[in-house]
Amino acid sequence: MPNSRKKLIFMNVIDCHTHTEFSVDSDADIISCLRSAYEKNLRAYAITDHCECNWWFPREHYPDTELSEDFDFGDCFEKSVSAVTKLKEQYGEKLNILCGVEMGQPLHAPEIAEKIVTDKRLDMIIASVHQIRDEKDFYFINYRTMGADEIDSLLEKYFTEIYEVCKWGKFDVLGHLGYPVRYISASGISVNIDKFDDIIFESFRELAQNGKGIEINSSGIRQGVGHCFPSEKYVKMFRDLGGEIVSVGSDAHTPNDIGGDVEIAIKSAYGAGFENLCFFRDRKPVFLGIN
Ligand SMILES: [Zn+2]
Ligand SMILES: [Zn+2]
Repeated sequence: MPNSRKKLIFMNVIDCHTHTEFSVDSDADIISCLRSAYEKNLRAYAITDHCECNWWFPREHYPDTELSEDFDFGDCFEKSVSAVTKLKEQYGEKLNILCGVEMGQPLHAPEIAEKIVTDKRLDMIIASVHQIRDEKDFYFINYRTMGADEIDSLLEKYFTEIYEVCKWGKFDVLGHLGYPVRYISASGISVNIDKFDDIIFESFRELAQNGKGIEINSSGIRQGVGHCFPSEKYVKMFRDLGGEIVSVGSDAHTPNDIGGDVEIAIKSAYGAGFENLCFFRDRKPVFLGIN
């Protein structure tokens, strides 16, 4: 690995949300990912490949569905977690590698979610909602043919599921709050989530009271949405409710994007009043001062 490591504005830069070749939507070679994390001088680097709980089994297990293009996440999970566990042993002294997972839709298959959250190899669990019940992943929905009321109704269901996941709470940080906005905005439709502030407030209260955290996901910068997920207004809402745990992640799907714009996410945490970032080792929070 090269000696010239990138100079950073913040002392402690971490990336707690990244994907590799073991995610269905990435072909990023895992060794190239490690090299990129090392070159960017990350103080913590979590590999959090996708595991959609509701599509854990092979295709044959879901004969009547048209709601997913990808199946067998049980296999993806096992491949990712066993590879990362080995790499931790090999490179753990050079790089603070964390074995994580991005667990999608835990409440659509609670028995699978239970299996994941009790896996002792995991350092860190992000809980995400990529699709609501009886709908496709927000990535695949065609918003251009929908009216404003229909989009609002989808968003209402999304934030209701987020609230349920927060109440359930068997994870470390809530992933990219506002995920559907990525794709609605990309369709050229402007969307304002202020009308869901009450349920977001209640969701954050659950997290803060139970010692759980949120992540600030910088992918929105890379994808041209103009802000992280969630935006600073909501990071501040979480802080004001007594939230203490905030992590940052790029949601990189390529080696090059690792660490991408996380400094903007860190700035957002700092601006909202957080003095520490947090990553998880062995499912326990580790705090790192922001500067
Ligand atoms: Zn995600
Ligand atoms: Zn992700």
